[in-house]
Amino acid sequence: MIIKTGNGKHWAIISAGVILENPVQFGKSHLERPRVSLSIEVIVSPPFMENTLIVFRPDRNDCLVVDPGFQPQQIIDSLRRANLTPAALLLTHGHVDHIAGNAALRREWPDVPILIGARDAPCLADPRANLSGLGGVAVTSPPADRLLAEPDKVDAAGIELDVLDLPGHSPGHVVYLVRNESPLIVLGGDVLFQGSIGRCDFPAGDQQQLVDGIRTKLFSLPDDTIIYPGHGETTTVGHEKRTNPFCGERAGLFEIE
Ligand SMILES: [Zn+2]
Repeated sequence: MIIKTGNGKHWAIISAGVILENPVQFGKSHLERPRVSLSIEVIVSPPFMENTLIVFRPDRNDCLVVDPGFQPQQIIDSLRRANLTPAALLLTHGHVDHIAGNAALRREWPDVPILIGARDAPCLADPRANLSGLGGVAVTSPPADRLLAEPDKVDAAGIELDVLDLPGHSPGHVVYLVRNESPLIVLGGDVLFQGSIGRCDFPAGDQQQLVDGIRTKLFSLPDDTIIYPGHGETTTVGHEKRTNPFCGERAGLFEIE
């Protein structure tokens, strides 16, 4: 399966959930075999079409689960089928659609630690803070085992990640930058989407803070850095820099005074 990442030039070839390579990097000959170093499976959960990511090295049987959403059984089935054991539940932030599966995964794997940005940790136990209270069905999660803030690092399942604070959508939102990959990969939650950014009209939302964070911390990464967002298709730093109407080079040009 080939998925277009947005600008017509950068394509990620994804086969059975495996990023094989960005073809622009191995040129026209295609003689070189692509290096398969990291696999990312995306499970989309209605009703908010939230992306849960299963991230693993093909030569290992442990993995990271990023933002387990409203389809925990599908996540569990997928992990069991692939013979994968989660080494950590990594949360980008504490909104309900990103944490709803924590309890079920913890029942299945009682030792798996939960990691979240320190300032979003209160969302786990508080349906009002995680916004599930608004929908009438209160959702809570087991508490966090580790609270994160920049410049923390996470090393699990053979994958090294840098923690970057990117508040604005929520106060404790973090993104995870996968080091030692080419191109770099950002597990990005609700910060930067293909053609959009995370909502900031929730309590404690701050759009200027979000845009500033994207420009200083994400747009300083190489253009071919792949963003796996919390909703929608993957994109790249370069594509969003050039075209994103909220934070890209042309943002604000068409604003009505
Ligand atoms: Zn959110």
